[in-house]
Amino acid sequence: MEVGLKITYLQTELLKWFNQNQRNFPWREENAGHYDKIISEVLLQRTKAERVAEFYPAFIKKYPSWLELANASQEQLEMDLLPLGLHKQRGKRLFRLAQEMKKRQGIFPTSRDVVEEFPMMGQYIANAFEIFILGKPKPLLDVNMARFLERQFESRRKADIRHDPFLQELAHEIVYHPKVPEINWAILDFAALICTARNPKCENCPVGGVCNYFSNNLN
Ligand code: SF4
Repeated sequence: MEVGLKITYLQTELLKWFNQNQRNFPWREENAGHYDKIISEVLLQRTKAERVAEFYPAFIKKYPSWLELANASQEQLEMDLLPLGLHKQRGKRLFRLAQEMKKRQGIFPTSRDVVEEFPMMGQYIANAFEIFILGKPKPLLDVNMARFLERQFESRRKADIRHDPFLQELAHEIVYHPKVPEINWAILDFAALICTARNPKCENCPVGGVCNYFSNNLN
């Protein structure tokens, strides 16, 4: 199948699957604000969403806004983040982000260029900012999305997915859809529940018919 057609097919099928099988998390709820969405993405990096969901309510209760977060010291944040792991890195990132947002009185800038200048922002969080605050079609490309795309299409060209032009382009194409958060969540949920790292559920996969991994390895 031609790549453009395959992408359209995958978008349709994944969103259909997502409507029936999506995972529910507090940061995806309708009343979740920009603050909740950005904080959750910092917590979700390199950590399973189910684990973040257990930790998240108490953290948000203690720090319900940029101002409360900015009033905490970096050491305090690191201590609070200890149960979740990566506490040093996350503590520093959240501390710096909160200080920047305090300076801006809680208002996010309206362009990615400015956001990229925030300390410790990183590509993934900058993309989350564009999706949830600017409504732009950007991918939450992590190891899970990368695994799904590589199995469906081809392997990455470079070890680091942030700098792989092939995967980056593919990821941008697959999330180019009016429902940007939903298509991202659909891919992430599908990778977590069906296209798992070990023992993917290929036999019952709704998009197995167009999958290169399936046709090469299991048929
Ligand atoms: S067929 Fe298997 S490898 Fe391909 S997308 Fe489905 S679960 Fe993943």
